[in-house]
Amino acid sequence: MSEQDTTAYKPSEIEPRWRELWAETGLFAADDTAPDPVYVLEMFPYPSGDLHMGHLKNYVIGDLLVRLLVAEGRTVLHPMGYDAFGLPAENAAIERGIDPREWTRRNIDTYHETIQKLGLSYDWSRELATCDPEYYRWTQWLFLLLYRHGLAYRRSSNVNWCPSCQTVLANEQVEQGACYRCDTVVTKRKLPQ
Ligand SMILES: [Zn+2]
Repeated sequence: MSEQDTTAYKPSEIEPRWRELWAETGLFAADDTAPDPVYVLEMFPYPSGDLHMGHLKNYVIGDLLVRLLVAEGRTVLHPMGYDAFGLPAENAAIERGIDPREWTRRNIDTYHETIQKLGLSYDWSRELATCDPEYYRWTQWLFLLLYRHGLAYRRSSNVNWCPSCQTVLANEQVEQGACYRCDTVVTKRKLPQ
């Protein structure tokens, strides 16, 4: 006769209960009027497929810091968003024959769900995606401000170019002269910047 082990950790029973309580009580929602808030930002992930353990190296550290600060009574602004603009999304969509918007949205939903399951301490009322017009209108606003003050200008310069991905690569994305994504030999190209 075996007795039921009441000390066993059953995540599927325990974790949703706490996540619901944190959401209901607004434990991680930042109060706009707090006099001395702390801003914690790890980074906004680029939504491709699903999260991997490398993402957690960033997000778990931020989560621990936020939990400590909240326990100390501090107001913390801890947002989550998705760095969701870019050629990789377009290329992935072309490969799969679907609209980049649909591909990106689907990945964002997957990321959102995974991060929720991890129980990370984000203020979900502030979730954003950089491909939303409500978000990028502000980057455009900021750019125009720089432009009007002569701090943004146009000039041609040499860039790393992958002829297969049809995209510019950062120096870090060129590995032994080849594209990190597709191994095509990277060329130089003069482009207006
Ligand atoms: Zn490439």
